[in-house]
Amino acid sequence: MKAQILVIGNEILNGKTLDTNSKVLAKELTKLGLDIQQIVVISDNQKTIISYLDKALTNAEFIFITGGLGPTSDDVTKQTLNDYFGYDLSMNQEVLAHIKSMFKNRYNSPINEQNIKQAMLPKQARIFINEYGTASGMWFKKNNSHCISLPGVPHEMKHLLIGQIVPTIKSEFNLPQNHIRTVNTIGLGESNIADRLTHWEKNLHPKISVAYLPDLGKVRIRVSTSDKDFQNAQLHINRAIEQLLPLIQDIYYGQDDRPIENVVAELLTEKSLTISCAESYTGGAIANQITSIPGASAYFKGGLVVYNNDMKTDLLGIPKSIIQKLGPANETIVEQMALGTQRRFETDIALATSGNAGPTQGDINVPVGTVFIGLAIMKKVETFEFKMNGPRKQVIERSLNKINELLFHHLK
Ligand code: ATP
Ligand code: MG
Repeated sequence: MKAQILVIGNEILNGKTLDTNSKVLAKELTKLGLDIQQIVVISDNQKTIISYLDKALTNAEFIFITGGLGPTSDDVTKQTLNDYFGYDLSMNQEVLAHIKSMFKNRYNSPINEQNIKQAMLPKQARIFINEYGTASGMWFKKNNSHCISLPGVPHEMKHLLIGQIVPTIKSEFNLPQNHIRTVNTIGLGESNIADRLTHWEKNLHPKISVAYLPDLGKVRIRVSTSDKDFQNAQLHINRAIEQLLPLIQDIYYGQDDRPIENVVAELLTEKSLTISCAESYTGGAIANQITSIPGASAYFKGGLVVYNNDMKTDLLGIPKSIIQKLGPANETIVEQMALGTQRRFETDIALATSGNAGPTQGDINVPVGTVFIGLAIMKKVETFEFKMNGPRKQVIERSLNKINELLFHHLK
């Protein structure tokens, strides 16, 4: 069934607020089996809303609206929809009781006229009580089209959508569900992967679709199908994945929402290995990523940010003369950094980074985007040089992916 998303809000059109609601709506509704055809953003304006509805209601079975449900004069969605569908506003006692109890128990503040106005709702609409706010969800119907209006506050919208709207649609409409599995890879570009998988793709069941989703050194391969028959869908997906995995063994690290850093963390735990790091251009990003995973204390002993050359000497024992001769970014330095860190922290593994993350040349000895990574594992030490493009943040992000890739290959 066809669906459209209408985002209402001046604050989105003038760039003050980033529209995140349509992303959440599109993701959840696609998962539900709806076919999203359009996402439109318009102003809090009665005429604009009406002219959109006139067109949308003849084109789609479902219209999802977010925003403009507040009690103030700038929010016009409720009144406009009520008038458009020819419904009547009346005091909804259940919603009124909910709003009163919210103010008493949660906000501990007196209720005013504006808040009470939020319980004036279209009598003929289906109402969904908003547990986290005063703007209710409303479901309007005209001929065979359904129009569902949700608040603009992101967490309120999300709770109503996932907690009430999605289950209602699921139970009342027989939609072909979208079944999606994602296979995660690291270390090979999307075009190379696609090349390798040409034959696999050609021989897939016609109902299976494949998409390649690249992300700074990682590529997710999304395998999906929409089928009303749950078992059929599972069967086709399972078969496709079974045939895919042997073809990508060297780059595969897991499925669905499991990040590479979590896979690495599990391997470190499983093998009872400890790790430490010394970071120059990554400025603590490695340590931050490691410690974002609960339980990291089992394997992470610590890290140093050695940004200044003297610190590389003072804290890691790299002779000043070597840094002066070679500069701070090269394979010798990251090797020394990794070994120095491994010694200092007494860990099985030590990581080191040094390079030029840009955006300008600065006084460093290598061009923008040239980075070095050192990896000491037990008694062995390896160094790597990479050229990474993009802004500074991206160079760091890419480096983290590279480091996880290296660790993953060593540990698995
Ligand atoms: P309220 O009861 O708070 O008035 P509402 O339905 O009227 O709810 P809005 O007034 O449109 O919602 O927006 C409330 C808040 O939610 C604002 O801070 C706004 O920036 C944010 N918001 C609105 N629409 C979106 C959106 N599409 N994506 C992200 N944030 C949004
Ligand atoms: Mg608004």
